[in-house]
Amino acid sequence: MNRLAYLRAASLAEAKRALAAPGSMILAGGTTVVDLAKLDALKPDILVDIGALAALDGVDVAQGRLRIGALARMADVARNAEVRRLAPGIVQSLELAASAQIRNMATIGGNILQRTRCAYFRDARTYAACNRRAPGSGCAAAGGVTHGHAILGISDACMATYPGDLAVMLAALDAVVHTDLRDLPLLDLFAEAGSGTETVLAPDEIVTAVSVAADAAAARSSYLKVRDRRSYEFASVSVALAVGGTGDRPQVRVAVGGVATKPWRLPSVEAVLGAGSPTRERIAAAAALAAEGARTTPDNAFKTRLLTRSLERALLLALEAS
Ligand code: FAD
Ligand code: SF4
Repeated sequence: MNRLAYLRAASLAEAKRALAAPGSMILAGGTTVVDLAKLDALKPDILVDIGALAALDGVDVAQGRLRIGALARMADVARNAEVRRLAPGIVQSLELAASAQIRNMATIGGNILQRTRCAYFRDARTYAACNRRAPGSGCAAAGGVTHGHAILGISDACMATYPGDLAVMLAALDAVVHTDLRDLPLLDLFAEAGSGTETVLAPDEIVTAVSVAADAAAARSSYLKVRDRRSYEFASVSVALAVGGTGDRPQVRVAVGGVATKPWRLPSVEAVLGAGSPTRERIAAAAALAAEGARTTPDNAFKTRLLTRSLERALLLALEAS
C-alpha cells in the first residue's frame, strides 16, 4: 500500500477543495476503497473522508419521490419503514448484499459506485494488464478464468461484471442520481466497459443522494439474486422488477445484474411483457430474449441459461400474484 494522506472534510466546500488535488479520492464507508488500496489496485494520494457531511445522510419522502442520502448506511436504509413500504425491492437488494458487518459500515453512494470484483483488476501486483486500472494496458482476463465475468455489454477491452445489487434494483426503478453538480438518470451514470473510466462523474463530483418515484411500480418492486452460495456472495445472476400497469396488462421494468458490465435494462423483454396479459407463454417468450446479444466464454456460458431461467422465475413470482 502506498503512503497516503487522510482528510476528514467538515463541509462540502472543504471536500471539494481537497478533491481538486490530483490523486485525491472520496472515502465513504471505506469497504471498497481501503480494500483496494491495500491491494495496490487503487493508489490514492489523499483520501477525502466525507463521513461528516450530515446533509448527505438520511431518507425522506417529498413530492412523490423517495430520496436516500448518499451517506445513509445500507443497513439503516434496509430497516427504514418508509423504504420498506414504498420500495420493497430496494430492501431486498440491500439485505441480500455482502454481510451484516459490511452493511452496517457501507453507504448507499459507495455501494452504487463500488468497483468491479474482477480478480485480475484486484490483483495488481501479479497482473499489470487491466484496462480499468491502467487504461490501454490490455485485459489479463482475456483467455483467463472468467466464471464470474459478464456476458452482456462486454468488449475486447473489458468483460468485468458490475458487482453491486442495489444499482440493479435502482435501474429497474428509473432512479435519478443527485450530485453536487447535477441530476442524472442512474442508467447514464456508468461508462462503457473498458472506456478508461468507470462512470461519467467528474473526479471531484460528489454523489449526494439517489431518488425514485414513490409510485405503484416501486411498491411492487422485487429483487431475486442467484449466487454460488446462499450468503455473503456476489450475484451470478440477479433480476430486478418494477411492476406497474394493471393485473391483465402489467407494465414491467426489468434490470439484471451479475451478467453485464453495468446495471442492465432489458427493453425487448419489457416490450413483450407489455404487449398483453401475463400468461406463462408470454413470460417464457419474454424471458427467452434476456440473453440476446450475449458473448460468452467456456467458463461463463452457463450464465445465458441461468439468466433466462432466473428471469422467468422472477416474473412468475411477481406476475402470477396479479
Ligand atoms: P467506499 O469504499 O468508501 O467507496 C466506494 C467507491 O465509491 C470509491 O470509489 C469512492 O471514492 C466512491 N464514493 C463513495 N461515496 C461517494 C460519493 N458520495 N460520491 C462520489 N463517490 C463516492 N456489494 C453488493 O452490492 N453485493 C454483495 O453481495 C457484496 N458483497 C461483498 C462482499 C465483500 C467481502 C465485500 C468486501 C464487499 C461486498 N460488497 C457487496 C460491496 C460492498 O457493498 C461495498 O464495498 C460497499 O457498499 C461500498 O460502500 P462504502 O461506503 O464502503 O464505499
Ligand atoms: Fe481489467 Fe476488465 Fe480485463 Fe478484468 S476484465 S482485467 S477489469 S480490463
